[in-house]
Amino acid sequence: MRVLVADDSPTSRRVLQLHIEKMGHEVIPATDGDEALKLFLDQRPDLVLLDVVMPGRSGFDIAREMRNERPDDWIPIIFLSGNVKDQDVADGIDAGGDDYLTKPANPVVLRAKMLAMQRISNMRHQLAEANRQLVHQSNHDSLTQLANRRALDDYLAKQWAAAVRHGSRPLSLVMLDVDYFKDYNDHYGHQAGDECLAAISQVLRKNLLRVEDMAARFGGEEFMIVLPETPLEGAVKVGERLRREVRDLGISHRYSRLDYKFVTVSVGVASTIPRASLKLKQLIKMADHALYDAKNAGRDCVCSAMLHTPDDIEG
Ligand SMILES: [Mg+2]
Repeated sequence: MRVLVADDSPTSRRVLQLHIEKMGHEVIPATDGDEALKLFLDQRPDLVLLDVVMPGRSGFDIAREMRNERPDDWIPIIFLSGNVKDQDVADGIDAGGDDYLTKPANPVVLRAKMLAMQRISNMRHQLAEANRQLVHQSNHDSLTQLANRRALDDYLAKQWAAAVRHGSRPLSLVMLDVDYFKDYNDHYGHQAGDECLAAISQVLRKNLLRVEDMAARFGGEEFMIVLPETPLEGAVKVGERLRREVRDLGISHRYSRLDYKFVTVSVGVASTIPRASLKLKQLIKMADHALYDAKNAGRDCVCSAMLHTPDDIEG
């Protein structure tokens, strides 16, 4: 641990530093409250030992400020005081501290309290990490690590609404489907099928250079890419590049019914200027139709369409 030790008494500070360094921790010394606060913010220690009586502001005031400055980041604070009464302990906890140590600090008690704080601190870090992973899992497809359908739907709805509000920003969708994937799975097995999808996902991820672009797994072997503020021509270029790069992976597919015996994708691109008279699902349908056209045109190719009015989508 990196331990911030704030105490105005040089002797007391040195003794504490000696004990703590003996336990194998690093000490960041501070001679008063203001210095302690500055070091707390700059260096983010793992534990704070804070003398209560210091010139200028008291340890309680400093603890309160530390909690205010980092409300979501719990760093344990242990107060140090020569003469501890019950009310001092209560005030210290009120001020945001976690424990109290009587000076001169007994090394056995100091070690035990530091260990207890470290335990809680570790637990909190584990919980925070588990929470991050849960959020990630709820938005990502586990096989491809791309956004899942849920995250895609949320993102698309937001982008659509933002573009409608703006009034003249294009929104484009690129839909990809792996050609003869069922034959691939049937002959090479599902494990190989999964690896194939993962390899294709990497191509998608590598090619999306703007943070606002999103690649998602739309369904089994179908992927969708959302390209905000991108007109049709730009989206077709993206679709064409992806098609070529998947082909260039050179994943052998002897059972493809194309002459080219490698894994390929068909690509459908649709674009529109979102406005209130149109619906997002019409744009998705249009991308789906374009993909269908690409399949009919012989696969391993890109077809595209522009959505101007609801009439552009028949049926
Ligand atoms: Mg003091």
